[in-house]
Amino acid sequence: MFSYRHAFHAGNHADVLKHTMVIAMLRHLTEKDTALVAIDTHAGAGLYRLDGDYAGTSGEAAEGVLKLAAALSDKNPGGPAIKDIAPALQDYLSLIATFNKGDSHSVYPGSPFIIQSLLRTEARDKLKLFELHPTDIKALAGNIAQLNAGRQVAVAREDGFEGLKAFLPPPSRRAFVLIDPSYEIKSDYGKVSACIQDSLTRFATGTYAVWYPIIPRPEAHDLPRRLKTLANRAGKSWLHATLAIGQDEERKTLGEPAARGQGLTASGMFVVNPPHTLKGALQLALPQMVQILGRGKGQGHTLESGG
Ligand code: SAM
Repeated sequence: MFSYRHAFHAGNHADVLKHTMVIAMLRHLTEKDTALVAIDTHAGAGLYRLDGDYAGTSGEAAEGVLKLAAALSDKNPGGPAIKDIAPALQDYLSLIATFNKGDSHSVYPGSPFIIQSLLRTEARDKLKLFELHPTDIKALAGNIAQLNAGRQVAVAREDGFEGLKAFLPPPSRRAFVLIDPSYEIKSDYGKVSACIQDSLTRFATGTYAVWYPIIPRPEAHDLPRRLKTLANRAGKSWLHATLAIGQDEERKTLGEPAARGQGLTASGMFVVNPPHTLKGALQLALPQMVQILGRGKGQGHTLESGG
């Protein structure tokens, strides 16, 4: 069950989509004075080294955050590849840069660190983190301890789908929930739908963000449809964004088997009760992500909303 390690994938195109959206949502949610509880049901290790063994082996960040940062750098001889960089994309890159010295990109923050960096005081906002992997929970707890964030951040070695229940509804009646499983086991898809259904019953006005991989598997294909139905039935607004970087035709011609050479080429985020500013932010950011990260056939994005 525990073969998935996010360290292999940190900073890839899926993280670019997911984390850009998380940042855009939290920017909006922390504008209001009232306290906010953020819950990350599948937290991972929290911090990753992009020059370390794991990320170095897979090289996925090279087709994600590193490609984006290089293309949009104002130090490029001809200037950034895009003149008017979408504010959400700029915000993403600027936040990642705060974890690194100078122009280096040796450290990549996972969702726990990204979220924590956007929260306000310990007295106001809280962060609950769940992680089950025996190695990653140790790394996460150690990384979080270095933050000296006091009682703002709580780490639990617990099933995030179950652990979430105890925090809904939060006393402040404001919550942001990120549900980002590894989908190693097929049952994760059903658990995500059940989790959203249960969470909306416990606390209908929370913002729930679900990441999922776009892969040729019926469960993956059905998930956004199920979530749409759940949100519509509950009378809640929703937003669905996808990013596909497409096939690398060059690699194909080099004779690499597509499945091994291409890895994950697309993913999506489904948000229930999204901040009203999110769609506008993504209308600008998604085409730019495709422009820079796109590799060819099948590249593109979608953005729809409802409710
Ligand atoms: N959210 C992280 C980020 O954006 O940086 C990445 C998380 S990774 C995609 C999924 C994580 O969930 C893995 O570290 C895995 O060990 C953990 N995991 C798997 N099943 C879990 C469960 N039932 N409850 C909590 N964590 C789980």
